[in-house]
Amino acid sequence: MSSKTNADCCADGHEGPALKLSEALSRILAEVQPVSGGDTLAVRSALGRVLSADVVSSIDVPSHTNSAMDGYALAGSELSAGGETRLEVIGTSAAGRPFAGEVRSGQCVRIMTGAPMPPGADTVAMQENVVRDGDIAIVGPGQKVGQHVRQAGEDIAAGTIALAAGTRLMPAEIGILGSLGVGEVRVRRRPRVAFFSTGDELRSVGEPLGEGQIYDSNRYTIFGMLSRLGVDVLDMGVIRDDRDAVEQAFAKAAAEADAIVSSGGVSVGDADYVAETLERTGTVGFWKVAMKPGRPLAFGRIGEALFFGLPGNPNSVMVTFYQLVQPALQALAGIPNPEPPLTMPAISATALHKKPGRREFQRGVFSRSEDGRLVVRKTGHQGSGVLSSMAAANCFIVLPEDSGPVAEGDEVTVQPFAAFV
Ligand code: AMP
Ligand code: MG
Repeated sequence: MSSKTNADCCADGHEGPALKLSEALSRILAEVQPVSGGDTLAVRSALGRVLSADVVSSIDVPSHTNSAMDGYALAGSELSAGGETRLEVIGTSAAGRPFAGEVRSGQCVRIMTGAPMPPGADTVAMQENVVRDGDIAIVGPGQKVGQHVRQAGEDIAAGTIALAAGTRLMPAEIGILGSLGVGEVRVRRRPRVAFFSTGDELRSVGEPLGEGQIYDSNRYTIFGMLSRLGVDVLDMGVIRDDRDAVEQAFAKAAAEADAIVSSGGVSVGDADYVAETLERTGTVGFWKVAMKPGRPLAFGRIGEALFFGLPGNPNSVMVTFYQLVQPALQALAGIPNPEPPLTMPAISATALHKKPGRREFQRGVFSRSEDGRLVVRKTGHQGSGVLSSMAAANCFIVLPEDSGPVAEGDEVTVQPFAAFV
């Protein structure tokens, strides 16, 4: 399967041509409906959750026009063109303790950052530009009318949508809810995602390794990625390479979860029952994607549940999860248009093997060189089973379908892991 030439790059024993990754992703997203149902949660408990309704502000933020600086509040019309302006200081406006009176001609008010602008004043002179002589403030030249003032409602105006349905509540968003005086919000329920590994060779922690056996790592990476996405997880363990066992696992997972993620058993080896069982008991969306690592891969439905049959190799699992499962689960969680991961150009400090045909995700470390350019070098051995190449990396080096080998010094595209969970 791995020794294909360019011409038959997509043949792997399954029927039909491989899909481009972008096409696979749009087909998946077209299938996904957000979970229904939700919770009303206190704002802090809603961190990481997705709003199920718009939050409309009932107040202006800021609620009053206020000073952005420590200084003097004055009427801009009092400023003398080009020279100094002398004004009488008639009081002080501090944050939370507004000045009670009005600023009239020839007057100003000492004002602190965040303090309400007194009536009659529309401009603040920074204290660094003012010299005090007793009750007189001597304002230096060069002030602009209206400067250093934050208008009421300039952040969020009363009656407008402060946060739209589908927004994931991150620290800035819960801060906004705080600024609105909102105590509780409506959020969607968390999607529930069942996951399991398949393979007779797999052992779990605590079990001794026999001849030809390996420890299951995919249930750890998948657990980690799902948990960081903020979904509820259901770990169904290791499923043997057995038609009935796989079918039973599918049925149990579909009964209990909104989505199912399996690893292994999707190729056409004698013991690969995942794709076959999906065909028999569910609906198959497709099962080959022109990506590396990652082909083959199954997507479909079992009952109502979305099904992602990821390959068995540990790096293939992580790459296919990040590129396809993460956006799908974000959509399932209620985020309408999950943003594609950030990419940026970098200079490859190493030559890279690549055959045209599939989109490749090599593991790399990017950094800034002394001359200020972003450079990237691949991390060690890139085999799809070598998880340490993933752990050592801070980005994917994304090589598009039609690209061939990369020479040292060529420009490539990197996708920082910061884009992923
Ligand atoms: P498969 O897709 O089932 O043919 O598996 C491909 C390769 O990935 C084989 O070398 C498997 O032993 C390995 N593999 C499958 N599942 C896991 C797992 N859960 N943890 C670690 N390696 C795995
Ligand atoms: Mg297997």
